[in-house]
Amino acid sequence: MDAITTKELVVAPVTANDFKGLVDPDWCKGCGDFGVLNSLRKACMELGLRPNEILIVSGIGCSSNLPGYFNAFGMHTLHGRALPVATGAKLANHEMTVIVTGGDGDGYGIGGNHFTHTVRRNVDLTYIVMDNEIYGLTTGQVSPTSCQEMKTKSTPFGSVELPFNPITSAIMNGATFVARGFSGDPKHLAGLMTQAIEHNGFALINVFSPCVTFNHDNDFPFFKPRIRRLEDEDHDTSDWKTACEKAMLWGDTIYTGLFLQKKDLPSLGQLESVLDKGGPLSRRPLGLSQEQAQNIISRMM
Ligand code: SF4
Repeated sequence: MDAITTKELVVAPVTANDFKGLVDPDWCKGCGDFGVLNSLRKACMELGLRPNEILIVSGIGCSSNLPGYFNAFGMHTLHGRALPVATGAKLANHEMTVIVTGGDGDGYGIGGNHFTHTVRRNVDLTYIVMDNEIYGLTTGQVSPTSCQEMKTKSTPFGSVELPFNPITSAIMNGATFVARGFSGDPKHLAGLMTQAIEHNGFALINVFSPCVTFNHDNDFPFFKPRIRRLEDEDHDTSDWKTACEKAMLWGDTIYTGLFLQKKDLPSLGQLESVLDKGGPLSRRPLGLSQEQAQNIISRMM
């Protein structure tokens, strides 16, 4: 067989398999997160991205193991802290596609504060939340998106709390791209992901990604007959009030799709004049001597 030249390697089209990590997922058989992982690989392929152009940042939880299963740069950070780490990475290298993945407990519970502020800052990130309405990794405790009356290990008589609605919360905090997907509808989900990655600014996709082991209330049979796509109706993605009304429906109809998009607002990076010229910060000279840099590092250690 002839050797492959560097030129051939550069122009070879990417396939979804190119984004397969070295490690196979250890998720439970049937976990919704498989559909999210496959959709993300497909979306990256369709956008013609290459593994070295992508950084995936996650927090802690079953779904936060995703960077290990994806061939790209990856960071598995602290519980709830993926968004600030991703913000720093994006500002350090604004040419990189930065995707953040995690779960509802990680992102809306432990990391709820970061969620609010990353939304309002309009950082150019794609945030994919695998929302299974429970803490799966810690074996089934109530989470911020668990339904009222749901019985879990930590709420044996049923949860008395109202669930957090990430869609209305993101909209009211000024998000510029807000969508909801379902891991049982991977083609639609991959389409939302391509739009979110292409969007200039913060893009949230909250994905119903059932935990088949610990949440027997909101499983695939619960969602399948209820899910309706906004794209199949005449939904106006510039109308935030209707978007909120549709996002609050939780009964025989539960909507997925793109609720809201604002296309013409600058992202945080575009407002930072220091990023205007000279390329990514990470490729610029440090501006400190070796000795000064070493002094700073020593002081912080
Ligand atoms: Fe998925 Fe639930 Fe298993 Fe975690 S515990 S891998 S969320 S099915």
